[in-house]
Amino acid sequence: MVSPVRIDLHTHSDRSDGTTPPADLVAHAHAFGIDVLALTDHDTTEGWAEAAAAARRLGVTLVPGIEISCRFAGHGVHLLAYLPDPTFPPLVEELARILDGRRSRLPATLAKLRGLGIDIDTDDVRRAAAGAVAMGRPHVADVLVAKGVVRNREEAFDLFLRTGGPAYVERYAADLVAMVHTVAAAGGMTVLAHPWASRHHHEALDRDGLARLAEAGLAGVEVDHQDHDAAARQRLRDIAADLDLVVTGSSDYHGAGKLDHEIGCNTTAQDCYERLVALARAAAAASGRSAPAVVGA
Ligand SMILES: [Zn+2]
Ligand SMILES: [Zn+2]
Repeated sequence: MVSPVRIDLHTHSDRSDGTTPPADLVAHAHAFGIDVLALTDHDTTEGWAEAAAAARRLGVTLVPGIEISCRFAGHGVHLLAYLPDPTFPPLVEELARILDGRRSRLPATLAKLRGLGIDIDTDDVRRAAAGAVAMGRPHVADVLVAKGVVRNREEAFDLFLRTGGPAYVERYAADLVAMVHTVAAAGGMTVLAHPWASRHHHEALDRDGLARLAEAGLAGVEVDHQDHDAAARQRLRDIAADLDLVVTGSSDYHGAGKLDHEIGCNTTAQDCYERLVALARAAAAASGRSAPAVVGA
């Protein structure tokens, strides 16, 4: 019997808010028996080259990706973009705008925390974010942990940093439907990340919302994710089947930055992965862009 190919399509390195450098992330995946790995840092492709070099060295198949901060019907939503041309100007501009929003948000977040009697300065956060292209809430959370204000990132989000929380500051996010189109025009393909994650309240991403996105060209939906319970997974799986969306599963690994998200804790079936790669190939051909290939395939 041939052992199944293990595929994890959603992981983060320290170029965004993971705690592992890209090369170490690939080595970690290899050690955990992952055959196909996607690197999907938030709003950046910074880690792609380092991860690709490590993947070639170790014989891991690497899918270059990005997890893009979007907005849909007033809600923050994460969109996984796979294999887009990272030099496509409209994509470059949107990512720059999102990262700018992240950077300008930090002083406002720290001011809100000061108002709550918690004094953190920018240098503390900069140290926590060493290696990342933008300092963000997870790094603020790390400082709160280091100062003993909270026990872990989870608690920092629950008590202070979550959407609507006492230290929350709104920031720019791309329009979700427009971004599905932009990624396709860049020769890539999109999967909606953890649409029903418990921390968020995505009433907008019901069957009708997902149908709208499928119509816009969304290729798939991340069903098997730690933030979805068994009932949510089943319901999402049914909707995906109904709308002919590809189902994925992934860890959303962040190194030490996220508990209970060990690499490979959820995986994607090989036929689903192959369908996604075929869709990306078709998008690349239709766009005329020189989209990246899967590394080591
Ligand atoms: Zn996410
Ligand atoms: Zn993620």
